[in-house]
Parts: sequence; structure tokens; C-alpha cells
Amino acid sequence: MASSRACFSRFPLLRSSSLSSPLLFSTFSPSLSSPISTFRKFSRLSASLSTHDSSTHHSADQFPIPKTTKPIWKPICLYYTQGKCTLMNDPVHLDKFSHNCSIPLEANISTAEKLRPQNIDYLLVLDLEGKVEILEFPVMIMDAKTLNVVDFFHRFVRPTKMSEQRIKEYIEGKYGKLGVDRVWHDTAISFKEVIQEFEAWISGHNLWEKELGGPLTRAAFVTCGNWDIKTKIPEQCQVCDMQVPSYFMEWINLKDIYLNFYNSTAKGMRTMLDELKIPLSGRHHLGIDDTKNITRVVQRMLADGALMQITARRSPASPRSVDFLFKNRIR
Ligand SMILES: [Zn+2]
Repeated sequence: MASSRACFSRFPLLRSSSLSSPLLFSTFSPSLSSPISTFRKFSRLSASLSTHDSSTHHSADQFPIPKTTKPIWKPICLYYTQGKCTLMNDPVHLDKFSHNCSIPLEANISTAEKLRPQNIDYLLVLDLEGKVEILEFPVMIMDAKTLNVVDFFHRFVRPTKMSEQRIKEYIEGKYGKLGVDRVWHDTAISFKEVIQEFEAWISGHNLWEKELGGPLTRAAFVTCGNWDIKTKIPEQCQVCDMQVPSYFMEWINLKDIYLNFYNSTAKGMRTMLDELKIPLSGRHHLGIDDTKNITRVVQRMLADGALMQITARRSPASPRSVDFLFKNRIR
């Protein structure tokens, strides 16, 4: 365990974007270095670590394949999603785990004619995991015009105020049943570090400027409910003795958009997927998979002609109070 953690720490700041398919992300952010060149750089890093024994790194039983899933489905490599996979040159590993976080558009979506012009260019779908403290922080950037996923950010988060024993039990209960507790322990970093890396990432995409503060530029968070940003982010910031970052002042609650657009009350992601006849993919309650599923719902809604608008905003004078901007909303 200790040796593998030391190995990851050798390149903790690799962005997931630098590991992603050059084709998939080639349309975005000219300010970033070429995905191809960073990919080559990464390959060299990977090669330099090739003496690392694969059997002690990712194990197949860490990611049991659900029986109900089609055989073609492969679990995503959760080291890769965090920019920490050292086995990108190992065919056995590549055969077992997917290293592609793209979400292919359904044919009827890619030819959608009902798409409306949006006021927001990029939608940042966020779905936190962890009730006592945040344990997982996954975000997908979706281009509101093309509906393509442009990039993703994924980190497991280590609780700040919890004993090691409590963390062990908490992770066993939460991720043990999904078979990903080992990768969680190998990779989780503190919430403060996650926020620093996240800010570097959104700045790299020109969606936020630290010097200016304020909300995201041309972009907005999309969450399934108000809990993530209204409740959990401020709670976690308090635990970590930090201010709530300025980009968490407003967001889009997808349930409110869904209610007003389809005139249907969705209790959660499962209901939306069921009603829109989108199959659940991946493992429910694994944040990165839930985020992908919510992204699919957003794609479908945009294709059906929905308009994404801010639904909730903190008041600058008293950040604890939130104004809800839709009269007809889920309470
Ligand atoms: Zn991998």
C-alpha cells in the first residue's frame, strides 16, 4: 500500500484531460498544451514506472463486473480517471479496464433538431458522494451546443476530521460493496488539495479566474438536487476551515429544470433515467458513474429542447441564505 502511494505521488498534478483521447477533446481550450504532446509525455512517465508489478496495483476483483451488465461493459480504471494510472502500456490491464470517459451520443440525440440556443456554453455536471464528509468529487464538462463531454475531473477525497479507524470503516461501508475501496485508499487526497487541483483545472479551461473570483465564466454547475452545493460544500468547507469558493454561489438544480420542462416530478437520477428510457450504466452511487448518468440526462433534455438556467443563488450579503429562482420547484 505504502509503496503504491509513493508511486502515485510522483505525478500528482497530471490532469485527466492530458490522458484523454486527443480526438475527443481536440475541440476544446487552445490554451491547454496539446493533448497529444502531454499524452506522449505521460507515456514516457508510464514507461519509467513499468517495473511496478501490475498485480499489486489494480486487481480484477477490485472491480467486480455486475451480473446484469452486458459482457461488453468494462469498468472504468479509477486510477486513470484521477490521472494516476501507471499501467497504460499494459495490455492485460487495458483489456480489463476502460480508459475512455467519453459518453457517446445516441444517434437520435446527435441529429436532434429541437436544440435551443443556450445562455450557458458549458455545463459542469457534479455529483458528490459522502454524507459525513465528502469522499468523491467528480465533474464532467459538457458543451451545451454539441452535447459532447469535453473533459472530466475526478478525485477521491480523504476526510479531514475523522480517525484512521473511522475512515477505514466508512470506506468499507461505502466503497467496499462496489469493490473500489482499495483504489480509494490508494488515491484519496484532502478536500483542500482537491479544490486546489480543481481550480487549476477549470482555470486551464478558461472557465474561472482565481484573481477575479466570482462565478464561473460562460459555465454553470448542474447537480441533481440542491444538496451538493447548497448543503454539502459549505459543510465540508467549514470542516476544513476554508471559505466557500466563489464559483459555488450559484447552480442549476436539474430536478427543477426537469419539473418545468417535462412537467414531471423526478425524485432523483433513477426516476429521470427511467422516465427518459436511458439505461443506467456503471455502478449506482459511484460518483463518477452517477455523474456520467446525470450527464446523459442533460444531453437528452437539451436534445428535447430544454433551456438550462440558474435555479439557485446564494445571496452575497449572507451566503447561508439561498434564493430559488424558479417558482415551480422541487422542495
Ligand atoms: Zn488504468
